Amino acid sequence: MKRELKLSQHALDFIDEHKLQTLLQRPHPEPEQVREVIAKSLSKKALQIDETAVLLRTTDPDMVEEIFEAARKLKRDVYGNRIVLFAPLYIGNYCVNDCAYCSFRRSNKNAVRRTLTPQEIVQQVEALEDKGHKRLILVFGEHPHYDASFIAETVRSVYQIKKGNGEIRRVNINAAPLDHEGFRIVKQAGIGTYQIFMETYHHETYQRVHPPDTFKGDYLWRLDALNRAFEAGCDDVGIGALFGLYDWRFEVLGLVAHSLFLQEHYGVGPHTISFPRLQPALGAETQYPYLVNDYDFKRLVAILRLSVPYTGMILTAREGAELRREILAFGVSQIDAGSRIEIGGYTEIGDAQVQVLEKEQFKLGDLRSLDEVMRQLLEDDYLPSFCTACYRLGRTGEHFMEYAIPGFIQNFCTPNGLLTLAEYLEDYASEQTRAAGKALIERELKKISDQRIVKAVQQRLKKIREEGQRDL
Ligand code: SAM
Ligand code: SF4
Repeated sequence: MKRELKLSQHALDFIDEHKLQTLLQRPHPEPEQVREVIAKSLSKKALQIDETAVLLRTTDPDMVEEIFEAARKLKRDVYGNRIVLFAPLYIGNYCVNDCAYCSFRRSNKNAVRRTLTPQEIVQQVEALEDKGHKRLILVFGEHPHYDASFIAETVRSVYQIKKGNGEIRRVNINAAPLDHEGFRIVKQAGIGTYQIFMETYHHETYQRVHPPDTFKGDYLWRLDALNRAFEAGCDDVGIGALFGLYDWRFEVLGLVAHSLFLQEHYGVGPHTISFPRLQPALGAETQYPYLVNDYDFKRLVAILRLSVPYTGMILTAREGAELRREILAFGVSQIDAGSRIEIGGYTEIGDAQVQVLEKEQFKLGDLRSLDEVMRQLLEDDYLPSFCTACYRLGRTGEHFMEYAIPGFIQNFCTPNGLLTLAEYLEDYASEQTRAAGKALIERELKKISDQRIVKAVQQRLKKIREEGQRDL
């Protein structure tokens, strides 16, 4: 296949490796310099690459603490206490690539390979709906079978599966990069975010972990993917790096540079940034000199938060429950819960706290059920939200930014989040979670100053609780 590249040269100028390395080698910044950068971020302006580098070069524990505190504040100011919940659904693990870190790699002969049949997809989605999920991310290996038409067909079928009051209102994708036509095809199927992680922005490392004779071995084709996505009309994209492959500080700069590049060229940055940390995986390489410890992981999340104030940040169940709880406060806006990453895992394993490594891509850190995660969020005073209103009303990309900036989230997202929470509590929650949820709804209503909004929410809550109405 001839691969036509569009903007990767411009993107490469933005993500210029030499420039990024040079910025990281400058001396440790003075406290005033760090505070200046923090102040810019707290005024909700995106940071430039050299400003992000100032935060990355900060190692003084007191100054790092100031960075943590600023990230907590920014999260509260921009996103409030909402946390959006989703679940991954692995559709198939056939893969033609040989990524050193992933157990789906073609050289892993012990992997149990499988693609869900249409009937199995129905069963998995019904099982997810029975738990209360409303948002999914479909995950695919890279294989000729999983082409754009297959992905689009799968997305359409997921939207049609409804069990009881359950329905999936947003379907995101994590799959190999497509060409222009492919992005158009999946867009027409109504996908939410198209997520593609660069894995590492460091060329030498990229080439080492992705053999050059594989599709994924083509760095520029992957870097160019989101350019093709935007040009094909997919303006809702997610980027990410797999932390542990190379120096985490370099990867943070890569993500911020990539984000600024998309913002500059298309007038809108990525909708989300993901920061998966490398986990042990069967049949994968085991020696990684750049693994990120918990303290540095917290630093990277906080620094990303400060650098891109309006980009959603996703923290997955790769991380353990305790660390997730702590890191949420640093600016995470979305988490998965009750996740199973074995193909067919939602019916075949359910909430059992076990893993079947031959069937999985890597080891998960948080195996709690959705209900348990919900309860802890509520007890920690977060508002777990299944809201998909923005996306369904066409507020994505550039349009979403217009609404997000002037306090839109507090006035609209919180009320909508409360309604989706109330639906969850009525239909799926355990008794304990329901009690914690009702208490949170009361606390949140007291925080809303506009009494017209309070009244509107109360009327809708009544319809949900007493009349069984949904999706208001
Ligand atoms: N096959 C597609 C691709 O590679 O882009 C998409 C799906 S892949 C299953 C999703 C992501 O999982 C990868 O982009 C990678 O960042 C992450 N991943 C792979 N192996 C991992 C591991 N051992 N630990 C943590 N994350 C991993
Ligand atoms: Fe295949 Fe994606 Fe795993 Fe690489 S990361 S082996 S492309 S599934």
